[in-house]
Formats: sequence, C-alpha cells, structure tokens
Amino acid sequence: MRRPLSRREFTRLAAAAGAVAIIPFGSATSQVRFSSYPFQLGVASGDPSADGFVIWTRLAPEPFVPEVLGNTIYELTWEVAEDRAFSQIRASGTGLARAHLAHAVHVEVGGLEPGREYFYHFRIGKYESPTGRALTCPAGENAGPLRFAVASCAHYEQGFFSAYRYIADDKPDLVLMLGDYIYEDAWGERRVRLFDTQEANTLTDYRHRYTQYRTDPDLQAAHAACPWLAIWDDHEVDNDYAGLTGENEICGGEGVRQSFPGRRAAAYQAYFEHMPIRPSRLLPGVAARLYGTVDWGNLARFYLLDTRQYRSVQACQNPPTPWRCDTERGKKILFSGAGGGSFVNPEEPACKAALADPARTMLGAEQEQWLDSALAESRAAWNVLTQGVMFVTIKESWNDSPRIFSDAWAGYPPARERLLASLARHKTANPLVLTGDIHSFWVNEVANAAGRPFGVELVTSSIATTTSDKSQMLPLNPQVRFHEGLHNGYIRCDLNRDKLHADIVAIDDRLDPRSGRSVLASFEVRAGDPHAHRI
Ligand code: CA
Repeated sequence: MRRPLSRREFTRLAAAAGAVAIIPFGSATSQVRFSSYPFQLGVASGDPSADGFVIWTRLAPEPFVPEVLGNTIYELTWEVAEDRAFSQIRASGTGLARAHLAHAVHVEVGGLEPGREYFYHFRIGKYESPTGRALTCPAGENAGPLRFAVASCAHYEQGFFSAYRYIADDKPDLVLMLGDYIYEDAWGERRVRLFDTQEANTLTDYRHRYTQYRTDPDLQAAHAACPWLAIWDDHEVDNDYAGLTGENEICGGEGVRQSFPGRRAAAYQAYFEHMPIRPSRLLPGVAARLYGTVDWGNLARFYLLDTRQYRSVQACQNPPTPWRCDTERGKKILFSGAGGGSFVNPEEPACKAALADPARTMLGAEQEQWLDSALAESRAAWNVLTQGVMFVTIKESWNDSPRIFSDAWAGYPPARERLLASLARHKTANPLVLTGDIHSFWVNEVANAAGRPFGVELVTSSIATTTSDKSQMLPLNPQVRFHEGLHNGYIRCDLNRDKLHADIVAIDDRLDPRSGRSVLASFEVRAGDPHAHRI
C-alpha cells in the first residue's frame, strides 16, 4: 500500500507542479463540487503482480472541456476490498490528479495477497467512481487455470465495441491488449460514428482521442472487468511508424515539417495518461519503457514486447519523394516515402540484401538482451510472447511476383532468427506467440529458417475495423493452420499446465451496437507439443 503524503510533501509536490489552486485535505476535499459527475471515463486496473496492481481513473467532469479543471491539484481517496460491498477493505490511500498528466491518477497498490480477486473504487467529495475488479497474480506453484482475452485494433469510427462487451462478459483474469487501442486517423468506408478531431498530432489531440474512446460503455466495461496487460503498436502514434521515423508527417503550419519525435513523445504521454500502466514505465523525455514480464505464478510468463519504439525502418523502401503538403484530402499530410510498411519483393537482389542485414532490428539491442535474460531465468510452464505484428512470414503471392509485408517480422528475418535462437538456447518451455495488427484471425505454427518447430502463433482479429480476408494465400502458406478474415472479435484462452484451449470468438456485425457473437473455431495446444490441434 502506498503511504499517504504528508502535508509538507504535498505542498512541495503541488509547488513543483506549478499549481495555482489546491483542493487537498480534510474538509476542503469533502466540499469539492464539480459541474457534473467527474468519473465519466470509468476506472481501470493493470500490470498485476503477486502483491498488487495499478488502479487508474481520470477526473473529467466535462470530458471534452478539460480546461474546466485548470491547474488545480485534486486529491482523491481510493479503497481496495475483497468484496463488491467494500465491507472487507484491504488497502486504502490517496492519489493526486494533476493537470500536467490530464488529471489522471495511477496508484500502485501493494501489500495484497497473491492469487486473489479484489474490487476497487475512487472517491472525491460526494462523488464515487464505478467499481472495478482486479486480481493479483498467483505466487509460485499455486496457479490454477488462467483465462485471458486477446484483443487488438479498435477503430472507434468503423464499428461499435461489442467485442469489448463480450470480453467483459467472459470474466477473464487478464485482458491482453496487443496495440492499436486507438487510431490516430480516420479511414474506411463505413463509419458508425465520427472522430470529432482530425488526425492526432499534438498532446491535446491525442488526449482528446483517448477521451472519446473512454466514453464508450463497452470499453469501460472491459477495463472494469479485470487487469489489462497493454502494449502498443503503431496507431497509438502513426500508421507503420518505425522508431523515430513516421510514415507520413503532418504539416506543422504553412508547409512546415513537424518533428516526428515531438509527435511521438506527445502520443506516448497521452497513452500513459490513459492506460493502467505503472507510472515508473514513463521515462523523462521522448521515450518510455513499455516492455517487461508479468508472471502468473509458475504457470505463465508474459513477455510484453515493444515492436515499434526501437525498430529499424522497414526494408526495401521506394525512393523518398520530396516533402510536400497535401491539403486536397481535407487534411495536411506531408508525404515522404521515408517510413511505413509495404509489400516488397524479397527475391529482388537489393531487397534480399537489405532483409538479410543482421544490423536491422525489431526490438532494439537493449530489449533483445533483456528478453534473452528474461527467457533464461523463466521457470514458467508456458512462455507467452505478447507482441504486435505477424511473427511467421506470410507469402502474399509468389512465382512471378513474390511479395511479403515489410512491416511484420517477415521484414526483419535475422532479428526473428535471433529470438528463436534464444528460445532454443534456453530450452524455453512451450513458447506461445500472441499477435494483433492485421484485422483477421490466424493460427500459425512457428519454425525457424531450418524448419525446427517452436510452437504456435495466435493472431487475433480486430475489435472493430474493416476486416482483411487473405484466404487466397493459404495454398502458399502451409504453416497456417487456420485463417478467417471476415469477422471482428477476439481470442479467449483458457490455460492450465497441460494445455491451452483457444476459442476464436467472432462478433456477428460490428455495425450493430447490440451484435451477437459465436465461436468460429477452437484450438488446443498441448504442453510439450509445438503444434495446434483443431477440436
Ligand atoms: Ca498495427
């Protein structure tokens, strides 16, 4: 449990934050009044450990007019209990909502018992937040079956979030969000609702985007249902960006090129403000350490990987075009050709040489080294690589015009071989790869370049985007055990020491806010067997 701040510490923090007004302790807190309910964006929990988790909320009495809170620092109280009625309170304390973090509150709760269900809420004045459910990780050998949902790619305009509603209904222990939680931009033909700002570029823009998402009741339900393990992919910043290189860059004014690192830093900050992630992961400056491990007792170790921040630019780019502002489509985009994924010919000599270059990286040297060490020390029955983009190479066409997608691991083969060599070196037990990004369901078998099988990759479709049917490519790709590209949804996994059971759950119609759902297919992966079995 976090120790409440003393009055002197509070005053020092408030002064450091440049506060012009403070609503702090005792009677002042109980008298605070807002124009309307301040917890309209819900609550969330995440990053569980054996003794706690992060709980999150954000004060937003006028969600789309954040200025009403000014620079005031607000003190909230929070409670964690064993029951929904809060009769068995196990931890409590205070947290500060400050303007420089959009009045979001992240509390790292500790001192709890392992492997238990808890409930939490926040209070300020007469206002009480919705109640969220969180869990601590089991410790050691005492991990029972684990249920987790795998989600990615939620475009607010392109569909309703029924998939999130059903994830909440399934009452999982964890939600694994593999990225594209928001979309920075509008695209697609059929839109059920609209973004109310154009392509996000500034901190204000990204905050506004998260705010609009978080008003969705189905998304709020999924956050309140259980802790999330969240990583990002590209659309939390910009389509197909790589490291510090954007795909297209927005004109900052009259044809002025806006700095992409500045845009990325703004996007990263807004992400941390809105996700239930330990505050220690937000680093000063333009970077953020998102990667890490979460141990569900000895049953599963989740490796949260960052496949965007440190990667080399996609290989085999077309020659860059001169910078120009395009205002014809109603928005100002600067085209360059410098970054971004594309379908490339891996047999073309220059491209072949670029793809074979061992200096190119997906994870960056530091994260690669960290992952190797984390794999070396794992004692888990299952080792789950939780990451953003397709791990196996999909041949999109072959013969006369071979092509692969350069943004996926297919565009970084030596980096993938290094990761597989790590798994082999450490005799990693039951590796499992989880993937999002491509708006379709896949079950793939993972092998290295020499054909040695390692385990299974599960690729989840999108929560809500236009889907992508690639079934015509199946004859070229015998490593694919299943593909379905017509439905949105998620993957529901039930894991024990002996096997993983995965249900591919499809939403009937993302355009219908009350859509039904069904299980399209179910697969089993058995411990010690690197293959997927349809059941
Ligand atoms: Ca993506």
